[in-house]
Amino acid sequence: MRFAGKVAIVTGGGSGIGKATARRLAAEGAAVVVADLDPRDTADLVVKDGGAASSFALDVSDEAAVRALAESVRAEHGRLDVLHNNAAALGRDVYGRDLDLADLDVAVWDRTHEVSVRGAMLTCKHLVPLMSKGAAIVNTTSVSALVGDTDHAAYGAAKAALISFTRYVATMYGDRGVRCNAVAPGLVMTDVARRVMTPEMLAEKAAERLLPWAAEPEDIAALVAFLASEEARCVTGQTVVIDCGTTVHRPEHA
Ligand code: NAD
Repeated sequence: MRFAGKVAIVTGGGSGIGKATARRLAAEGAAVVVADLDPRDTADLVVKDGGAASSFALDVSDEAAVRALAESVRAEHGRLDVLHNNAAALGRDVYGRDLDLADLDVAVWDRTHEVSVRGAMLTCKHLVPLMSKGAAIVNTTSVSALVGDTDHAAYGAAKAALISFTRYVATMYGDRGVRCNAVAPGLVMTDVARRVMTPEMLAEKAAERLLPWAAEPEDIAALVAFLASEEARCVTGQTVVIDCGTTVHRPEHA
């Protein structure tokens, strides 16, 4: 029960990694606010699990909406201990094609950055004032920020900016005892990933990993919970890769 009596916000908590984190933090005692374009059934699920949760529907790139989230958390709880900035989507899947640069619509580039980078900036801007000594922020970035690929440059560049932003936030608020770290997952077997990945794509990903298993959303949630907890009180400004060993070796060792 590392989060007993604490208050947490999970953006993008409506599904996938955010949903798993919301459930994990609540299972360890936190009152969780699930903040998402579509918070769906996560809060109900947490309550069914025996935890405490509420929903807040918002677009994290909208400053007025984020300000309203902060006002709501201040009125309801008066404090914030954990912020998981996790909302985002692969540009190629949601906002439009994020493939070859020649075909890249500038609107896709902008929207991808708006959600990942502006969204995290806005939540930190409006929610850090509710935080005090011992509070922690965890940003979800991606291995796409660390290695190149032949597609989704907008996504990779936005996630790389989030790594830099993580260091700035850690530096700005370290003296207040507020930490900020990032997790960088490789492929995670969310419902969306299971739906869109073909057997060939899954086999290709399996061949890239050092470990004979793939990451589930609960694996990322466990790392987020560790980084958000008092156990990680000396860790700040870091990006922790969680990719089953995909990015640490030369291709011939796969
Ligand atoms: P997901 O689509 O299951 O969940 C993302 C959630 O974010 C959705 O519920 C969606 O409604 C919400 N969201 C999107 N845009 C939003 C906005 N503007 N405002 C508020 N909420 C918004 O995806 P996921 O795979 O669980 O992704 C979670 C995070 O993990 C993302 O930041 C993603 O980039 C990152 N990530 C995922 C993988 C993977 O393989 N699944 C790998 C690396 C990084």
